[in-house]
Amino acid sequence: MRTVIVGAGVVGLATAYELLKAGHEVTVLERDTYGQGPSLGNAALVTGVLSFPVPAPGTVGTAARSILSGDQAITVRPRVELGFLTFLARMAWATAKANFALGTVAQDLLTTMVLDDYAEYVADGLVFERHEGGSMHVFDSRASFEAGLAVFDDFPSIKSRITVLDGAEAVHAVDPNLAPELSYGYLAPGDLQVEPASLMRALVEAIAARGGQLIEHATVIDFVTEAGEVTAVATTNGVYDADQVVIAAGVASRGLAAKLGCSLPVYSGGGYSIDVHFDDEAAKPRCSVLTDGSHIAVTPLDWGLRASSGMIIGQPAPTVNAKAAAKLLDDVKATYPGVPLDGAQPAWAGLRPMSADGVPVVGLVPGWGNAYLATGHAMLGLTYAPSTAKVLRSLMEGTAPAAYAMLSPKRFRWGR
Ligand SMILES: Cc1cc2nc3c(=O)[nH]c(=O)nc-3n(C[C@H](O)[C@H](O)[C@H](O)COP(=O)(O)OP(=O)(O)OC[C@H]3O[C@@H](n4cnc5c(N)ncnc54)[C@H](O)[C@@H]3O)c2cc1C
Repeated sequence: MRTVIVGAGVVGLATAYELLKAGHEVTVLERDTYGQGPSLGNAALVTGVLSFPVPAPGTVGTAARSILSGDQAITVRPRVELGFLTFLARMAWATAKANFALGTVAQDLLTTMVLDDYAEYVADGLVFERHEGGSMHVFDSRASFEAGLAVFDDFPSIKSRITVLDGAEAVHAVDPNLAPELSYGYLAPGDLQVEPASLMRALVEAIAARGGQLIEHATVIDFVTEAGEVTAVATTNGVYDADQVVIAAGVASRGLAAKLGCSLPVYSGGGYSIDVHFDDEAAKPRCSVLTDGSHIAVTPLDWGLRASSGMIIGQPAPTVNAKAAAKLLDDVKATYPGVPLDGAQPAWAGLRPMSADGVPVVGLVPGWGNAYLATGHAMLGLTYAPSTAKVLRSLMEGTAPAAYAMLSPKRFRWGR
């Protein structure tokens, strides 16, 4: 079985590795060099808990306020384009309580696989930077803490995976370096820190070792089709015959799906990060931390910490301005007063692939029997890459549970 994968971000690479293990002949086509998009500088958190899609009850109000103030957890770059406006309307629909619940259940299909899938990478001998530090959501007021916990009320099985930290003593027992006013939280003890560049390097080496091909600087421009099947993939660097195709091209998946007649509601969600290098182990965060007030994520890594923020829906290109970068460092200081910031590196930015309901899109392109989509992973593409690969494999092998239909692009009911 010759499987061609479009896109060598973390999702495409994990898919290539899994399908090689399943005995496929795999070629990955990448327009740039591998792993240069959002997969590179993300917040390095792998979570077995946070199944909640970005469009949640209350998101519409936050996004609407952002158009005026620009300083909300989610901001929208408004533009008049039918596809984008439809996407926003669909996103607003997804924030209804019942739709959010459906999205959470769908996403939890992947979340429950995450920690086993990463353990399998380690058992396979993949060598990458990985820490078993857990993650903690922190709050500075009882009201915001109770609101944060209330999200779990409808999902007892997800709630069973967290430890509630009700008070400053409990929070600072987990991480004594946190600012004193952060006095409420919940801990996901099984969560991991995975440095994404090291993971992708390990996957590329493993793909080569198993005979897979990674072709860089080959931009996919079209699909050759015959009798309802894709038979080859046309690139700026030649044509590649295929028995099946996986489109894992991040935000660009929308344009590629359109070539197969599929109107895919996936747009960008811009974000940014800053690496801070320092040697003082004692000053390091003890786990990954997500703050409720300033909306930052901080993850300890071998050389210091990575801080990230931003969810700019519809951002056209990955950029971060000096003001946002400075605010991120201020927020790190407010969260970890003892962390030295003089080793801060230049800010980095990336565009997450956001589906309209916030749930990953994994499954056959509607109307085609051998073309799959694997995109729309939003804030959790690093987390979900290995599980997405497993879902694709089971769909291809005909062993997928019926529930995986919740991840299928067919849920948008727009296709050929
Ligand atoms: C600031 C920030 C923080 C984040 N933090 C986390 C986190 O802590 N944990 C987590 O799980 N996730 C996190 N994410 C999300 C995660 O990084 C993304 O979901 C993930 O990287 C998406 O991977 P991908 O492979 O789908 O897409 P991409 O990384 O965009 O890869 C797609 C690839 O396809 C290629 N491509 C596009 N078009 C073509 C074409 N026509 N032909 C050939 N190749 C093409 C691109 O060049 C690219 O290499 C974060 C993202 C950001 C921006």
